[in-house]
Amino acid sequence: QKAIAVMTSGGDAPGMNSNVRAIVRSAIFKGCRAFVVMEGYEGLVRGGPEYIKEFHWEDVRGWSAEGGTNIGTARCMEFKKREGRLLGAQHLIEAGVDALIVCGGDGSLTGADLFRSEWPSLIEELLKTDRISQEQYERMKHLNICGTVGSIDNDMSTTDATIGAYSALDRICKAIDYVEATANSHSRAFVVEVMGRNCGWLALLAGIATSADYIFIPEKPATSSEWQDQMCDIVSKHRSRGKRTTIVVVAEGAIGADLTPISPSDVHKVLVDRLGLDTRITTLGHVQRGGTAVAYDRILATLQGLEAVNAVLESSPDTPSPLIAVNENKIVRKPLMESVKLTKAVAEAIQAKDFKRAMSLRDTEFIE
Ligand code: ATP
Repeated sequence: QKAIAVMTSGGDAPGMNSNVRAIVRSAIFKGCRAFVVMEGYEGLVRGGPEYIKEFHWEDVRGWSAEGGTNIGTARCMEFKKREGRLLGAQHLIEAGVDALIVCGGDGSLTGADLFRSEWPSLIEELLKTDRISQEQYERMKHLNICGTVGSIDNDMSTTDATIGAYSALDRICKAIDYVEATANSHSRAFVVEVMGRNCGWLALLAGIATSADYIFIPEKPATSSEWQDQMCDIVSKHRSRGKRTTIVVVAEGAIGADLTPISPSDVHKVLVDRLGLDTRITTLGHVQRGGTAVAYDRILATLQGLEAVNAVLESSPDTPSPLIAVNENKIVRKPLMESVKLTKAVAEAIQAKDFKRAMSLRDTEFIE
């Protein structure tokens, strides 16, 4: 009987609980034992039944609607070192787990792929140092790893949507709607900062959905005179037509042409100094990742959870670790490491201001 474990890692995202629920139940449905690793890689490094727990059907009852992640998540520095991964391997083997599904962002999935590629040398060392038996060594020669992408940023290449992104987008739009009402009452301008790290997806889509006056995203830096003139022209035009509100959305990773960050206070200063607008800054912060998941994330996470279990059951030592993606509304498998590499290459190209390369990488299936 196979034993499949699931963990959530990196930043929490609404829909992670739906993903865990689907993986636990699908594993049990297919005749496997289901385990959860508590607190991300921290739980692997610590090990024992407190951190690597067997889960039953009813343990995930009602999880579909719940936000955050009930099995905990963490950023674990020890897992970035070989000794941490060695402990992780030992603890998985002690728990009798033979497949691991990781729901997280690109960092978590890089860790997962490294863990799998190092696996033969890790278990060799564990055997040599008598930390596992010959029998355990023979049974666990191969570790199945699979990734599902949980991140509110929607910044992973090769998938159209990450679990949590549409929930965060919905929350941001609602928050801007609230701000809009008070802006209208006082005829004020609001500069709203939204999350997304180096990716402008949340800011761009929230700006479009709320008809913001101006949007700053990392993918489109401008010199300060360019953006200041353009923003002021647009805002003045809207105001001259009787608009009482001004909403400017700033992605947290927004940068100028010289690659220095553009902060909400930079934007605030321009709106006050050049246009004389009564302007406030609203930083939405962690509200964006909290609360329940929207229906799309629940469904995406459930379908991807089922596919992740199928993928680990079908995987062999020669197949690369899969990542479960969604492409044009279909749940598909992609090679995990290629997807992570591509995501990193896009982020690097954006940071180097090489947008042509960033766009061409986004259109490319896999990098050379
Ligand atoms: P988010 O997109 O929400 O930030 P993420 O998965 O990218 O999520 P990270 O903080 O980058 O978040 O990674 C989460 C954890 O994954 C790290 O704390 C670490 O334990 C593990 N990890 C990340 N990168 C590596 C790596 N190169 N090698 C081993 N483990 C890693």
